[in-house]
Amino acid sequence: MTDTAERTTPSTDAVEEVRSWLEENWDPDLTVAEWWERLGLSGWAAPGLPEHAYGKGLNRNDSVAVQGAIADFGALGAPGGLGLLLAAPTIATHGTQEQIDLYVRDIVTGQKAWCQLFSEPGAGSDLAGLQTRAIKDGEEWVVTGQKVWTSGGQVADMGMLIARTDPDVPKHQGISYFGIDMHQKGIDIRPLVEMTGHAMFNEVFLEEAVTPDSSLIGGLNNGWAVANTTLMNERAGLGSGGGHAAASAATPGTVVNDLAKRAGDFVSGAATSRRRGGGGGGMFGSSYKLLVELAKGNGKIDDPSIRQDLMKLHTLNELGRMNSLRAKAAKAIGQDVPGLPNISKLSMSEIVRQQRDVGLKILGPYGTLHAYKPEDAGPLNEATGNPFTMMVTGMALFAQGPPIYGGTDQVQRNIIGERVLGLPKEANNDKTAAFKDLPKNA
Ligand SMILES: Cc1cc2nc3c(=O)[nH]c(=O)nc-3n(C[C@H](O)[C@H](O)[C@H](O)COP(=O)(O)OP(=O)(O)OC[C@H]3O[C@@H](n4cnc5c(N)ncnc54)[C@H](O)[C@@H]3O)c2cc1C
Repeated sequence: MTDTAERTTPSTDAVEEVRSWLEENWDPDLTVAEWWERLGLSGWAAPGLPEHAYGKGLNRNDSVAVQGAIADFGALGAPGGLGLLLAAPTIATHGTQEQIDLYVRDIVTGQKAWCQLFSEPGAGSDLAGLQTRAIKDGEEWVVTGQKVWTSGGQVADMGMLIARTDPDVPKHQGISYFGIDMHQKGIDIRPLVEMTGHAMFNEVFLEEAVTPDSSLIGGLNNGWAVANTTLMNERAGLGSGGGHAAASAATPGTVVNDLAKRAGDFVSGAATSRRRGGGGGGMFGSSYKLLVELAKGNGKIDDPSIRQDLMKLHTLNELGRMNSLRAKAAKAIGQDVPGLPNISKLSMSEIVRQQRDVGLKILGPYGTLHAYKPEDAGPLNEATGNPFTMMVTGMALFAQGPPIYGGTDQVQRNIIGERVLGLPKEANNDKTAAFKDLPKNA
């Protein structure tokens, strides 16, 4: 084992400490709200955050080990979602202590769910081209514009909003970052049904929505830097197989009414499947096993081309896992592997495409069937004689998402080309011309 590999081993101290804390504090008869209050205020819900932001200042490796220890113990884990994954680390980095106490406290205790109000119909890859305006009116900001692709917007209490606060300066310089209350009459959230049949994301219309000046995070017109912290956390989560909306068994926030339920009811048969470390491909490794079982079940496992495809999937998963270990090892000794987060993101896209292709090949003609609504699952299982059909077709239909969210594959390649390999950027006057004078996308 190399020196750096040894350094990636999580510290047993953190795991021991959380275990003894759980011995004293876990009580399945608490409500979800009561349990998350205990977990969040103890620092164990988000141990990677600094201590002044309801964390314990642990490194990523130890934080993942702590999450695993909580699951192994059979206790309900931290509130998931974009609040914990994106908003909390962003506010911990750029927010004032008052903002940390106002926002991060409610995130780590699961009281409030957050969504990410970044993309617009004309601003996705070119996010800095966003046109939603925020205009100061006394102690408030009045926000008008449209956001799209807002994952979980329909269950969110708060939004991470980026809006244009100065159109007279170059586009990256006139953006500000706010926390905005989603429950107000100026915000209209309309779910969009995807091709999977689910409505995971939404379009959000803001019509003179208001947010107090105290919700401005990171300073006026400094929103691009703040948004980049959010995006960096998003890529780190995605590249390590964290999935887009970092799931937890119970849903945080006031909309999905899980807070009043019994915490113990969310952990019966608690997930004890443990990652082998590395993370990359972790969420996909289990799909690989499912596909192998599926192929064994319908006799396709002897088909050489399917064996070849499964082997490719396994190899991609392993590469993802090792890349993630590499990143962690480098980080542990204060180094960075340039471009590795982008490569990890690209590798995740490759994995989901391979999963889609081999899954549909194994299913054969049944792969053309899908249960778009939960009530269709029974008849589909009966017709195909296979309870996993819906999972495989669901995965196949969703495979188009990961290569887009968190920065498309093409954008990742641009970043590697320009920032890692030093290739010239596309010529433009983005950095010098006022935003109002630039041609608009939409
Ligand atoms: C499942 C899912 C969940 C999402 N959740 C959220 C969310 O919660 N909040 C949020 O704000 N956004 C969310 N998004 C939006 C996501 O961030 C954007 O879709 C993404 O940034 C791409 O933007 P766009 O869709 O506008 O495509 P565009 O930017 O219009 O791109 C269209 C095509 O052109 C290519 N392209 C664009 N610019 C370049 C370039 N310079 N060089 C080469 N090729 C280029 C792109 O790669 C793509 O193929 C989500 C998306 C998905 C799929």
